[in-house]
Order: sequence, then C-alpha cells, then structure tokens
Amino acid sequence: MGKYVLGVMKGDGIGPEIVTETVKVIKAVESVFDNLKFELIELPVGLHAYETFGSTLPEETVKQLKQCDAGILGPLTTHSYEKDNPNTVNASGSLRKRFDLYANIRPARTFPGVQTKYSDIDLVIVRENTEGMYADRNLYYGNGEFMPDPDTVLSMRVVTRKGSERISRVGLELANARKKKYASLVHKMNVLDKGCGLFVNSAKQIAETYPKVKIDDYHVDAFALHLVQRPEDFDVIITTNMFGDILSDLTAGLVGGLGLAPGLNLGDNFMLAQATHGSAPTIADQGIANPSAEILSAKMMLEWLSIRNDDETPLKAAQLIENAVDHVLAKGIKTPDLNGKASTSQFGDALVEYIIGKSVPIKGVSYS
Ligand code: NAD
Repeated sequence: MGKYVLGVMKGDGIGPEIVTETVKVIKAVESVFDNLKFELIELPVGLHAYETFGSTLPEETVKQLKQCDAGILGPLTTHSYEKDNPNTVNASGSLRKRFDLYANIRPARTFPGVQTKYSDIDLVIVRENTEGMYADRNLYYGNGEFMPDPDTVLSMRVVTRKGSERISRVGLELANARKKKYASLVHKMNVLDKGCGLFVNSAKQIAETYPKVKIDDYHVDAFALHLVQRPEDFDVIITTNMFGDILSDLTAGLVGGLGLAPGLNLGDNFMLAQATHGSAPTIADQGIANPSAEILSAKMMLEWLSIRNDDETPLKAAQLIENAVDHVLAKGIKTPDLNGKASTSQFGDALVEYIIGKSVPIKGVSYS
C-alpha cells in the first residue's frame, strides 16, 4: 500500500480556491484506488501566515514539510517586502532554495476543447530554479540586487557548473524518456558569454552521456520567436532561471493561458507541485479561477512519487487526473479564462465526477 504524506499550502489570492479543488481531486483518486492513501497536512504560508503567525514562511511549516513526501503549493503574492526581513520572505522562492528544488518542470501542451492557433504542442520547459538572476545573497531571503548608491542598482547573476550540470541532467533524462528525444538549450551566450557559456558548455558535456537525445541551442531572443512561429517542433527546453520563468508564461499563452500551465519544483529528495501562474489577485474570491494548472501540477507530483517509490498506483492516479481534465475540457466545461461559464468549484466537481465514475471500485468520496 502506497501511503503518502502531503503538505498542503494554499497560498494567496486565488490560491485557496484552486488548492481546494486540487485537494478534492486528490481525495477522489484516493477513493478509487484501494492501494493509495494520502495524509494531507495543511501548512500556513503567505500573507495569511504572516497575519496569523508573524511570518510568510513560519519555521513550523518548514519543519513539518520536511516530514512530508511532497507538497502542494498555491501561488503567493509578492508584496513590498521589508528589506532583509526574514518574516516577509518570498515563501515561494525561499522554499525552492531551502529544499534545494533546483529543477522547475513546466510543461505546455494543447488541450482538447481549447482552441488555439496550434494543434499539437507538447513541450516541457526545464528551468534552473535556484540560481541565475533570482539567486540571493542571504540564501533564504532577500535577492541578488544591491544599491551602492540611491541612483544605481547592481544585480547579481549566479551560474555554477554544479547547478548547470544537474539541471541539464534532469532535462536530458526527461528528453531521453520522451518520444522525440530532443532537447534545446536556451541562453544568451552572445552577450552573457561567461555565465551562459558555462551553462551551455556544462550542458553539452552532460549531453554526451545521452547519445540518443538530439541537442541544439538558441539565443533566448530568437528562441522566443521560434516558439511563437513553430512551437510544435520543440520537445524539452533546458534553460536558466529567469529565461525559463519568462518563456514558460509564453508557452502557457500558446496553449490557452496560465490557467492551463502546471509546474513541479523538483529536487533530489523532495518536490512541490505549483502552478506556473501567480496569485491573480484581481480575480481572487470570485470563484472564477481556473484550477487546472494546480491540479495538473499535483498530477505531475503523483508521477514523480511513482518513479521515486517504484509504485505504479500514483502513476495510474496521475493518468486518471489527466484524462479527467481532457474529458471535462472537451465536453466544454470551462472556466471564464477559457471563455467558459463554469465556476472554479463546478470545474473541480466535473473532474471528480469523471474520476469516480470511470474507475472501480467506487468507495464513496468525502469532499470535506
Ligand atoms: P499572475 O500569474 O497572477 O496573473 C497573470 C494573468 O493571468 C492575470 O490576468 C490573471 O488573472 C491570469 N491568471 C493567472 N492564473 C490564473 C488562473 N488560474 N485562472 C484564470 N486566470 C489566471 O501574474 P501577476 O498578475 O503578474 O502576479 C500577481 C501576483 O502573483 C504578484 O504578487 C506576483 O509577484 C505573484 N506571482 C507569484 C508566483 C508564484 O507564487 N509562483 C508566480 C508569478 C507571480
């Protein structure tokens, strides 16, 4: 019996709404597989945690998360932090660094029932998640920006051989397991010759150990153009932190929007499921956010739990969730971002209906 302890962090803005639907879906798959059990532990992060516990990332949350097998993290609002105050840390970035979640896996694919200019996109951005422009001097809080005087800002960018090699290994491993077996390295070596040079050369060295994977590389500006003009050609895209952050919003746009853009923050020993998008504060508390991205992030988490634990049941559960999303979208049940009329919870209910209806045995589902 596979039993997994999951930390559930709702986050800010639309976070509580979309994480609630994600939990509903997780409970639904648990109810249809006899040998799959989850213990869900809600842990405070974000503005609510700050108001209640005096910190956007309470130490107790970190401590408890360390006892979990994985976590589901909602989006977090970045507010104007008090400079260098660890109580107002950017919890999202801090969790990535504290758990050394160095790989941010952000897939984009076309979905049935969602009209776009493209019919067959299936790519994955593999973004370095702890270095680059988002590295910070205090490691856990703050960022890599310095003001030597009030009219000047210096920004630090960190690229290491170790960081470049390990993200490349994750990307190439993924490419090797996919049908196309194709990886593109994206950089800006023509200007940032040292940092991007180290990144690309490290990646190319690692690529020599993956002879079946075809490799090429692009300057990030030209690559943005290629992505818009011929996204269907690409497979796995390996890149540095900020380039990956920007390009993954672009690829989300190509397949229907941020509401369909999942993500996984992955390390060697831990992972956090987290949608690509932010807390979308202007649509919060209206019941109109699309929970698909967060739900599909949890689906990715199940896939990785399956690999990590050599347990095929979470993989089956992941496939069921993916089928449910495809089925519900194809039926035209969509949230307003996709020109639909379903509320966040109606969309989640439709997924649950598919999940418990299509699989046997049905053991009854509690949505509480
Ligand atoms: P955003 O991703 O929150 O929103 C961008 C646009 O996409 C908005 O129009 C929003 O309404 C829409 N959108 C996003 N997710 C959606 C969903 N699930 N369903 C329907 N529409 C959705 O980006 P932003 O507005 O630049 O940032 C808002 C806040 O989120 C900021 O404080 C930012 O710092 C933070 N942020 C957090 C993360 C994270 O926690 N990983 C990522 C990006 C931004």
